[in-house]
Amino acid sequence: MKNELSADQMVAFDRSHLWHPYTSMVDPLPVYPVARAHGTTLILEDGRELVDGMSSWWAAIHGYNVPEINSAIEAQLQHMAHVMFGGLTHRPAVDLARRLVTLTPASLTKVFLCDSGSVSVEVAIKMAIQYWYAMGRPEKHKLLTVRSGYHGDTFGTMAVCDPITGMHHKFAGVLNQHYFADAPRSSFDGPWDEEEMAGLTSLLEAHHDTIAAMILEPVVQGAGGMRFYSPEYLNRARALCDAYDVLLIFDEIATGFGRTGELFATHHTGIEPDILCLGKALTGGYMTLAATLATDTVATGIAVDGDGVLMHGPTYMGNPVACAAANASIDLLLSSPWQKRVGQIETRLADGLLPCKALDQVREVRVLGAIGVVELHKPVNPERVQRRFVDQGVWVRPFGRLVYLMPPYVIDESALDRLTEAVRRVVRECD
Ligand SMILES: *Cc1c(COP(=O)(O)O)cnc(C)c1O
Repeated sequence: MKNELSADQMVAFDRSHLWHPYTSMVDPLPVYPVARAHGTTLILEDGRELVDGMSSWWAAIHGYNVPEINSAIEAQLQHMAHVMFGGLTHRPAVDLARRLVTLTPASLTKVFLCDSGSVSVEVAIKMAIQYWYAMGRPEKHKLLTVRSGYHGDTFGTMAVCDPITGMHHKFAGVLNQHYFADAPRSSFDGPWDEEEMAGLTSLLEAHHDTIAAMILEPVVQGAGGMRFYSPEYLNRARALCDAYDVLLIFDEIATGFGRTGELFATHHTGIEPDILCLGKALTGGYMTLAATLATDTVATGIAVDGDGVLMHGPTYMGNPVACAAANASIDLLLSSPWQKRVGQIETRLADGLLPCKALDQVREVRVLGAIGVVELHKPVNPERVQRRFVDQGVWVRPFGRLVYLMPPYVIDESALDRLTEAVRRVVRECD
């Protein structure tokens, strides 16, 4: 466009015309213009440099402007940016499916590529419903989940987000009604309490005839509260699903690709889900792409019915550039000492954040893998807290009562210390 705007004009135009995630068009909170990013640094239009504590919402695990992913995308562009996936296929998609089938639990062998995390959950829900339909049990079309979950922003996924902190109140009467058990309580490595399963068990006992699938975020509940829970819960959930003829969906859109210290959070358990959703870090934070994997049983089960097709097919399905980015990101991850790095981040996050426990305004501090969470008693003032973080040269975006860090795995110690130091200071200022 001719007559380029100054940074101030750009921000002013943004303020009047551009929606951001969960924002109002009337007096929106300020946004900060980014000019460039490389490594673990975001560079604002005015030249200020911020250490990235967010990985752009779980995604940019290798940091920004990553040579290996850049060149994979550039190379793919020389071949083709996109072709329809109906009736055509291509190497980037096949290569990605090969990687995903190899890396995820052995029983997951069928891959559906889609545009975003929310869509991958929609596809998972469709798979489960179509499976039971094909089995001659169309009345099994409800879902079972736990409170404090987050599975996306589309209508199907909103209906399984936490009914209180999620979006149910504004869409009451529109969303499908599903079954909710209490959120898991036992901590990641704390003692196991058999009582934990009472909620899921009684809902299954009463309603299994109408339940197609149980959907859970394994080990870490992300945007619904940043809560960590015992892998034993998942072992028991699997046993319940088997006992009551219910499919098990794991939503690993946030936890996938190493964030919790295992490549996938299901690896903390001895079990495998029937359907698995991946997204976010799949492309290393480069492009929107997600995947839904299913077992042979689910995939061939769906095909038993009539024409046997899975009823989904996005226009940009299997986008070659996105697949090329994902392939490069996965290769880079696997050839790096990611597990050691995540372990070191875990230790340093714990050292840096645990002192917040002593503060009256802090309710809990928890760390797992490359995720560090300080939960306060009261919601923070987002505008003020955001500004204070930027003033200190870090990018940390709190929500509600949660101030949390999930840095790129490549972050160095001094940058990580800057993040935790800033969190300690800003949390101390909160009331
Ligand atoms: C982010 C997220 C989603 C939704 O992914 P989008 O790409 O934002 O649609 C779904 N489930 C979980 C667990 C997530 O963290």
